Amino acid sequence: MPTRTARRATLFSVLILLAAGGPATSGASASAASGGGGAPATALVSSDSAAPAVSETQTVKLTRSQVKSVQRRANVRADGALGSKTRTALKRYQSKKRLVRTGRPNLQTLKAMRLAFAEKIEQKLVAKQRTAVSSPSTVAGYAFPIQGAWSPGGSATGFGARSGAHQGVDLLSACGTPVVAASSGTVKTNTRQSAAGNYVVVTDTPSGEDQVYMHLGVRSALEVGARVDPGTTIGQIGKTGNATACLLHFELWGAPGWYEGGKPRDPRAELEAWSGRGSAL
Ligand SMILES: [Zn+2]
Repeated sequence: MPTRTARRATLFSVLILLAAGGPATSGASASAASGGGGAPATALVSSDSAAPAVSETQTVKLTRSQVKSVQRRANVRADGALGSKTRTALKRYQSKKRLVRTGRPNLQTLKAMRLAFAEKIEQKLVAKQRTAVSSPSTVAGYAFPIQGAWSPGGSATGFGARSGAHQGVDLLSACGTPVVAASSGTVKTNTRQSAAGNYVVVTDTPSGEDQVYMHLGVRSALEVGARVDPGTTIGQIGKTGNATACLLHFELWGAPGWYEGGKPRDPRAELEAWSGRGSAL
C-alpha cells in the first residue's frame, strides 16, 4: 500500500504527463509542457532537415571541362579558366538565384545549375569529412557518444542554429555506427517522434544534466529505468525523423531536466572534451 505522499507524487506525475500531452509519446501535442520555454515539439523541431552534410558554399575544385559547363550556365565564354569575367558572371548568377554570392563555384551553385557532376563532388566532400575525425574510447568516466568515425556537422548544425530552434549539436557518422551513453545515468525516455525520430533521454547523470540522443536508426533496446554506464550501447546512428543525413543530434539539459523545467545548453565543450581531441567541433 503506497503512502499518502507516494500516492500524491504518483498523481502529480500523471497530471504533469497529461498537461504535457504525453511528451514522451506524442511530440505533436506538446503545447503545454513546462519549462525550457517550450514543449517537446519545439525541441524536437531540432528537425535536422536543414543540416547539410558538408558546406554548400565552400569553393570546390573543378576540372577544366567542368568549369566550361559552369561558364555555359553563367552565360560567359566557355574557355575553362576561372578568370575575373567568369567570377563576375558567377556573382550575377548567384544573385539572380538568391544564392550566397561568392563568385566561385560551390555545391550550392552547381546544384542550382543542375549540373550532373554536383552530386559526385558532394559525395567526395562527405567522404573526406567522414574520415577527418575518428572517435576515441572513454575519457575519465565519459565516453564519446559515437563509437566509430564521425565528423562535426559544421556551424549550421551547432547549438542555437536556425534562429535558436536547434537545441543540440549534430555529429555526422555512418548509419549503423554504435551510439553509446556518454556517462552513467538512467534511461528516462525511449520512444519515437516525427521530428526526432527514435530518441533516448538519459537522466541521473553525474553532472545532473539530462542527455538526449536523437535520430537513432531503430528503437533503442534499453528499457525506461535501465541504468547505463559510459559506453553502454544506446543504439546506432540513423536518420529517422527529420534528418537528411546519418547523424546523432545530441542535447544537454540542465536540472531539473528535459522538459521538466530545465533548459538546453550548448554541449560543444563537453563533446570536445569527451572526444579527447581538443577542439574537434
Ligand atoms: Zn540536430
